[in-house]
Amino acid sequence: MRDSHQREIHDLRLSVTARCNYRCVYCRAGEESAQPPGELSWEDLEAIARAFAALGIRKIRLTGGEPLLRPGLAAFATRLQDLQLEDIALTTNGHLLAEQAESLRAAGIRRVTISLDSVQPEKFARITRVKNGFARVMAGIDAACAAGLGPVKINAVLLRGCNDDEIEAFAALARRGQVVVRFIEFMPLEEGRVWSPELVVPMAEILQRLAASYPVVEIPCAPSETARRFRFADGAPGEIGIIAPVTSPFCGQCSRIRVTADGKIRTCLFSLREWDLTAALRAGSGADRDAALRRRILEAVERKEARHHIGEPGFVRPGRAMVQIGG
Ligand code: SAM
Repeated sequence: MRDSHQREIHDLRLSVTARCNYRCVYCRAGEESAQPPGELSWEDLEAIARAFAALGIRKIRLTGGEPLLRPGLAAFATRLQDLQLEDIALTTNGHLLAEQAESLRAAGIRRVTISLDSVQPEKFARITRVKNGFARVMAGIDAACAAGLGPVKINAVLLRGCNDDEIEAFAALARRGQVVVRFIEFMPLEEGRVWSPELVVPMAEILQRLAASYPVVEIPCAPSETARRFRFADGAPGEIGIIAPVTSPFCGQCSRIRVTADGKIRTCLFSLREWDLTAALRAGSGADRDAALRRRILEAVERKEARHHIGEPGFVRPGRAMVQIGG
């Protein structure tokens, strides 16, 4: 499946819920409804995944909101195995992972990415607005490693004045060799949430800081990879990644497409337009529904944006946060 810019689209990020048990300060407002409206059934999500797979999607990443909050996730992953994908992965905050890691691995999930924005328990609580989450996430990381959900990746969004003093501590964590640590530049999502260019810690600065503490050497990798990858120059185990959508966009190599938990296709995180799949889902049973889904997907892919416009005059932030889009 190619878009009009000749990019092959083969990675689907499928959000299974917009609910989250964390309220990360940069992502979410205070209290929100327990059950956001319009959450698709597992059957509908499976029909969508099947339609994407028929069109050439090779990797599905289950995300949210917090996917581990939704009962039935492992059973859903098991059903996805029928699609013969190259990869089924999961992005989670890790809070509920210790108890679910084994069953998710048994269900065919191969890899897990865990969000961790601080290695200091108190700061972690301030960022997530959840007490005692840190120990649970650490237990989740250990359980994911033990269950063979590796290489386990840790994603840290860096925010100036908040956790940018922890670059070296995260690098030290990576050097233990158990997990790959990836730094992510803070992106301007959801109109109205706090974001300014000054809050972004650019890739160049992260590399400078690493050069002064734990020098790294770049690992060559496929152009479609979102992360630049680095190993430690002194030969220590471990790997660092940097995902720099703000200062070094990778739109030209983008192979991704997203579906929200309420059944909307987003062709870019920064899309201002969404493509509703619910009418196609109700277009009759079996073959009619599947054909309608495939038509709608192709229609959206055809219109995938060439690139985002962060930092340019007239850039408009999308109406939804990552938690609703599916990170
Ligand atoms: N609940 C899961 C988790 O915590 O990984 C999956 C969803 S969460 C929205 C996915 C990722 O998006 C998290 O790593 C989060 O830090 C990141 N994220 C949210 N808002 C962001 C932003 N404005 N810029 C960069 N990353 C963001």
